[in-house]
Amino acid sequence: MNIKPANIKSEEMNEIRIAPNKYEKILENNNIKPTAMRLLVLQFLLNRKVATSLTDVENYFAKSDRTTLFRTLKTFVEKGISHKIDDGTGITKYALCEDNCHCEIDTDLHLHFHCTKCNETVCITEYKIPPIHLPKDYVAENVNLVVKGICDKCNSK
Ligand SMILES: [Zn+2]
Ligand SMILES: [Zn+2]
Ligand SMILES: [Zn+2]
Repeated sequence: MNIKPANIKSEEMNEIRIAPNKYEKILENNNIKPTAMRLLVLQFLLNRKVATSLTDVENYFAKSDRTTLFRTLKTFVEKGISHKIDDGTGITKYALCEDNCHCEIDTDLHLHFHCTKCNETVCITEYKIPPIHLPKDYVAENVNLVVKGICDKCNSK
């Protein structure tokens, strides 16, 4: 895991100054006002290859207000740039959505993989959840498909 201490914040700011358009555009395209905190959290999520818990975000932005961090993640989910993952660990995780994702059951939901060794969870976006035909009068609101096992990194050690 690549968690850096809290003093990274000034460096992060510099990076954002170098490439401001990329992150601002993602937020603006999804009707999210680009505040400094939202830009930083977005960048953090983009740079992580694995699903992120609120605790991961809090540890990374240790000097920031926890409520603001939680609200930022919530806004990202509500506006459809990230989705929540229930990987069976009891800890809600967040990952950024693919471009043009609407988190629709029929088209956008994908498989997640939880590694029992490193405890990380990743999106396997190339495997969409196949259509599920429920009995009459059942209405699906969400589908969660998690495969558990050993991830590629742990497997190659
Ligand atoms: Zn989505
Ligand atoms: Zn692993
Ligand atoms: Zn995912």
